[in-house]
Amino acid sequence: MSRPVLEIKNLCAGYHGSEALKDVSFSVNPGDYIGICGPNGSGKSTLIKVILGLLAPSCGEISLLGTPQSDFTDWRRIGYLPQGLQYFNPNFPATVNEVVRLGRLAGKGFPKRFNRDDALAVERTMEWMGISHIKGCMIGELSGGLRQRVLLARALVNDPLLLVLDEPTTALDPETRESFYELIFQMNREKKATVLLVTHDTATIGKYASHLLYLDKQIVFYGSFDDFCSSEEMTGFFGAHGQHLVCHRH
Ligand code: ADP
Ligand code: MG
Repeated sequence: MSRPVLEIKNLCAGYHGSEALKDVSFSVNPGDYIGICGPNGSGKSTLIKVILGLLAPSCGEISLLGTPQSDFTDWRRIGYLPQGLQYFNPNFPATVNEVVRLGRLAGKGFPKRFNRDDALAVERTMEWMGISHIKGCMIGELSGGLRQRVLLARALVNDPLLLVLDEPTTALDPETRESFYELIFQMNREKKATVLLVTHDTATIGKYASHLLYLDKQIVFYGSFDDFCSSEEMTGFFGAHGQHLVCHRH
């Protein structure tokens, strides 16, 4: 078994003394697809921010690709689609091509020069995402679904080993949502990207993810969907109906 992509031990984190995460421990292996669910305010976005080094934990340890987070430098191998980015200023003056290119800057020192490899990576990713034909369009002119596809392309342009998505489908209509899930699933299957996806969509995620992490400040459940669905403890926690909602499409 190769080393875990992500390893978290006894993590806690909070804001101004109020605790948002308590004693969270789990590890994620290469190729896993983790669906992260939990009520509003349960610490899902906080967990993502701590993993990405955007918020300092108040205790515990994190390793990324086998390296302690404090020594980790290979951030360009981690693709991130933050919560709510689809609502950013629709007048943002950039084309599709430029937005995807922005994803290449993350891995560069200074000066940030754009070379032929970058251009090729941008072209390849736009093709793979089916957005080449709109590369000259302004990002603000696009439908929510297309815009989200462009932002996903930006997160994918460095061939990430780990792809982190925080509620990417909230702004999408049901059909676009389904095709967005299919894309992520392809990334996971074909490009072997490890995926952490935060979602409220508990009824759909079981169809795509290999594991469920149910968070409520602490970990309520972490394991495979099969284990979740057959767990009597989880029937006790969610009720038979709640458990069934997560499991019926799996
Ligand atoms: P989720 O993403 O699961 O909805 P969050 O991680 O955003 O939950 O929030 C967890 C808790 O931390 C909530 O009580 C929330 O109000 C609080 N919180 C989140 N972000 C901040 C912040 N920037 N400053 C203060 N409190 C915050
Ligand atoms: Mg959130």
